[in-house]
Amino acid sequence: MTDPVLFALIAGVFGLLIGSFLNVCIYRWTRDLSVVRPRSACPSCNHLIAWYDNVPVLSYLLLRGRCRYCREMIAWTYPAVELLTALFFGYFAALDGPSPLAAKDCLFAAILIGLIFSDLDTRLLPDQFTLGGLCAGMALSFFVPLPPTLFGLLAGMAGFEPAPRYVSFGEAMLGAFVPAGVMWLLGLVTGKVLNKEALGFGDVKMVAMMGAFLGIGKVLLALMLGSVLGLLVALPMRIARRNRGSEYLPFASYLGTAGLVVVANIFGIVSGLEAFLGW
Ligand SMILES: [Zn+2]
Repeated sequence: MTDPVLFALIAGVFGLLIGSFLNVCIYRWTRDLSVVRPRSACPSCNHLIAWYDNVPVLSYLLLRGRCRYCREMIAWTYPAVELLTALFFGYFAALDGPSPLAAKDCLFAAILIGLIFSDLDTRLLPDQFTLGGLCAGMALSFFVPLPPTLFGLLAGMAGFEPAPRYVSFGEAMLGAFVPAGVMWLLGLVTGKVLNKEALGFGDVKMVAMMGAFLGIGKVLLALMLGSVLGLLVALPMRIARRNRGSEYLPFASYLGTAGLVVVANIFGIVSGLEAFLGW
């Protein structure tokens, strides 16, 4: 595989298939169903979906967004998940070539897309994405080194010079457990004070997963970005609705979007800040 354009295209097609599988995971994991059995069926008329009506994006366009049998609308999120996954897979493949880094970033993007759309669809964040992703991120930190940030600094101050893979594991450890731990404590305290659940534990597990993949430096960046994004989008919407409607703030969707921006370095946001901080 030498042609980078061809490689990116193949990765994009692979991304379409993974996106299609993500749709199954999002639908079934948020409803405690198996992703293996039974075969996919229309959620409104229960008619089994034939393979030719299950081709990513293309079938949605050919069916004009409606079920072949009952003509019920198919959610726009199905082709959106497939297209987004394809775009990120193609992008990482073009950026990093056939490498462990590209594979890790593709996996992370797929998990984030799964969480964003699970949150939008059902407000649930399946453990398979959060805790499963946490384990995968921790394990991968040994093989795809994270650059030294806080852990590297702390180890240096303590007079240690660990091998790069241990620095990487340390960055992932700090990233997974420090911000999530602080969030969990804050949620516990505000929950006691307000006497209602202020922050779902799913959000905490999601931050832990993101920290394992990104390391402590970048997960803090993603948290800041996600909070700003949430404020920029949610506040005007609340004011426009004059506070009517649900109290629910889809924080995980903003957080996941911020995670995608950070891992793909969209707008050069990460490299700019890293240069500024000297990481
Ligand atoms: Zn139907």
